[in-house]
Amino acid sequence: MDFKVNMPKINLSNFDNKPIVKDSKRSLSIRDKQIVWARAHKKCEFCGKRLDFGSMQIGHKKAYSRGGKTTIKNAVCLCYEHNKMQGTDSWKTFLRKMGKSKKPKPRKPHTRKPKKKEKSLFPDWQLPR
Ligand SMILES: [Zn+2]
Repeated sequence: MDFKVNMPKINLSNFDNKPIVKDSKRSLSIRDKQIVWARAHKKCEFCGKRLDFGSMQIGHKKAYSRGGKTTIKNAVCLCYEHNKMQGTDSWKTFLRKMGKSKKPKPRKPHTRKPKKKEKSLFPDWQLPR
């Protein structure tokens, strides 16, 4: 009797094939994109327009062309329009250009504040009540 079992041939050389990593530094993986998208509440971080995952774009906070890394931390979720507008500017430059800054400067009244604490006109014991 012949108990020979036919084993399927496994091509061992395939095990060494690693997935080809193509210049991954330029864009985030889909999963990372989803994180950025969710972090931005599925909205364009510039105009607040609601975005489908398919239509969101990743912008760089620090421009890629200036050494900004393609990381979740450096990414902003943008609509097509604003991603295009941002171009190669950094996020800050873009906001400044668009006249929109995350920290709008509160309008200060035109009174000069003394840099040093001025001495009270009244000695403590004479403070008006
Ligand atoms: Zn937008």
